Amino acid sequence: MIEPADRIKQLPPYLFVEIDRKIREVREKGMDVIKLGIGDPDTSTPEYVIERMVQEVRDPKNHSYPPDEGLHDFKEAVAQYYRERHNVKLDPGAEVLPLIGSKEGIAHVHFAFVNPGDINLVPDPGYPVYGIGTLFAGGESYRMPLREENDYFPDLEGIPEEVLEKAKLLFINYPNNPTGAVATPEFLERVVAFARKNNILICHDAAYSELAFDGFRPMSLLEVEGARDVGIEFNSLSKTFNMTGWRIGYAVGNGEALEALSRFKTNIDSGFFQAVQYAGVEALTNPRRDSFIEELQHLYQERRDVVADGLKKMGWNISPPKASFYFWAPVPEGYTSQSFVSKVLEETGVVVTPGSGFGKYGEGYFRIALTVEVSRLKEAMSRLGEAISF
Ligand SMILES: *Cc1c(COP(=O)(O)O)cnc(C)c1O
Repeated sequence: MIEPADRIKQLPPYLFVEIDRKIREVREKGMDVIKLGIGDPDTSTPEYVIERMVQEVRDPKNHSYPPDEGLHDFKEAVAQYYRERHNVKLDPGAEVLPLIGSKEGIAHVHFAFVNPGDINLVPDPGYPVYGIGTLFAGGESYRMPLREENDYFPDLEGIPEEVLEKAKLLFINYPNNPTGAVATPEFLERVVAFARKNNILICHDAAYSELAFDGFRPMSLLEVEGARDVGIEFNSLSKTFNMTGWRIGYAVGNGEALEALSRFKTNIDSGFFQAVQYAGVEALTNPRRDSFIEELQHLYQERRDVVADGLKKMGWNISPPKASFYFWAPVPEGYTSQSFVSKVLEETGVVVTPGSGFGKYGEGYFRIALTVEVSRLKEAMSRLGEAISF
């Protein structure tokens, strides 16, 4: 067998492989499993999007290679959506880049900017792709701890000067996976000033920008003055429109940065199915868009309240998230993330994610995803309540 490259051998084991193995074991014992692990929406893509897709699949003009730089109509739709939802004006030609899901762009942006020896500033705990993309491109990650006492914001002032000298990309993600934290305008302004001062490109991952509760409205990075001089924002139809399987996302913001990413991508992929891009146009611009989003917010808000109530009754003192579909909670004393998650799974059949899977500063926490219906969440909370004592 031919030896895989170092970049493959250096990869940490995929978080969910070990969990999947345990789930099989527990199921074989006849236990009913409730999965609150992976953050994949359980409700359907809007009907109006599916109808448009069916129509476009039948149209032979969509069966050829799509334009490399993305379908113009889709880019226009993203610009319209940003104008209507964030009051941000974008030039669809230069400031919007369609992606095969935002993960694709988040993984590839490193290849457009990172040389061996360069440093990326990466939140920890965080979405693993920021650090793994850095590794693949030969760069190094400087892990920025996200601590509860700092509202899960990185301490930008605490980053050493010698790190800043080599720093290229700064990743931030609000509403945040896994902590559920949200950004404030002041924080985003500080990030923009920091990036400008240190000549760093901000990569804001806004995958959960529409999943907010109690009337809270998460900001786009691009709402901050001057942000597009120093930043790009990744966004996705995955969580907003229950379209994870469709693979459609986009980046917006600094035109030169997007041009570099686009040049890399042109040499790797050849875009994605034009019919999917038309379905994306429908998702982003259909008159039923806002009411769909509102219903989705209510759905997750009700689930959040069930979990908030359940955890509170068990004695967990955590504030419920204002956005995202995650709860981030400390494990009880005497456990590690992994030992707690294993105990919960073995004794209750409830699957939660160990915080340590999101980086070393996630140790001591676990994550609950609100991606099952209320009755199952209630059942999960009652099982947890029986199994856990403080
Ligand atoms: C789900 C998620 C994404 C979205 O990924 P897609 O590739 O667009 O499906 C991006 N970032 C974070 C933090 C996520 O949790």
